[in-house]
Amino acid sequence: MKRLVLFDIDGTLLSAGGAGARAVRRAMLEVYGQTGSIAGYNMGGRTDPQIVRELLVPAGYSLDDVEAGLDALWTAYLRNLREEVARAPIRPLPGVPALLDRLEGSGDPTVLGLLTGNVKEGARLKVNAAGLGFDRFRVGAYGSDHWQRPELPAVAARRAREKTGIGFQGKEIVIIGDTPFDISCGAHLGVRTIATATGTHTAADLAQHGPDYLFDDLSDLDAVWRAIME
Ligand SMILES: [Mg+2]
Repeated sequence: MKRLVLFDIDGTLLSAGGAGARAVRRAMLEVYGQTGSIAGYNMGGRTDPQIVRELLVPAGYSLDDVEAGLDALWTAYLRNLREEVARAPIRPLPGVPALLDRLEGSGDPTVLGLLTGNVKEGARLKVNAAGLGFDRFRVGAYGSDHWQRPELPAVAARRAREKTGIGFQGKEIVIIGDTPFDISCGAHLGVRTIATATGTHTAADLAQHGPDYLFDDLSDLDAVWRAIME
């Protein structure tokens, strides 16, 4: 059974305990001098560049102004994130290490990947800090590839084809995530969606968005495996 299995990071593979949000907030203060209405803003499912746009544009910034600061912002963000993850341990969410081991060890042409709003280096930092091994994910599509999440599934599929020579389409592409944005981002490609209520959304909330499969967490290894492979 060939599968391209694409995991979201925050709230799906791991909980960073707010380290990412704190690192973004500090970086925005350093580079733009303000954070917009960050206190009531839910970052879940949004890409890093989308977060910065959605906070600064309502505060009066033009997209050009936002864009002009982004290189400096990511430099500051990654420096801050390194400090934040060193301060508080990041742990994988229930069932995740065993699921990754099983997928990696399967004899099928199963390709492990990431589909996340994190910029790539932020993704690397978080995944490695949780002990999950960033390099085991053979393909990735990141917030640094595009600021809109629905652009990312096609990026991941193209990279998988370039890397493995295998084309994945429709339900062979599996997107696993914790927000409505994870569920909807690959709808135009007809992907398979697995939602896990380990982030900021409850299972009842996620159910309203019609994922193919829904779990309270990823700890029921056999059930999650079937959801991916059936
Ligand atoms: Mg997430």
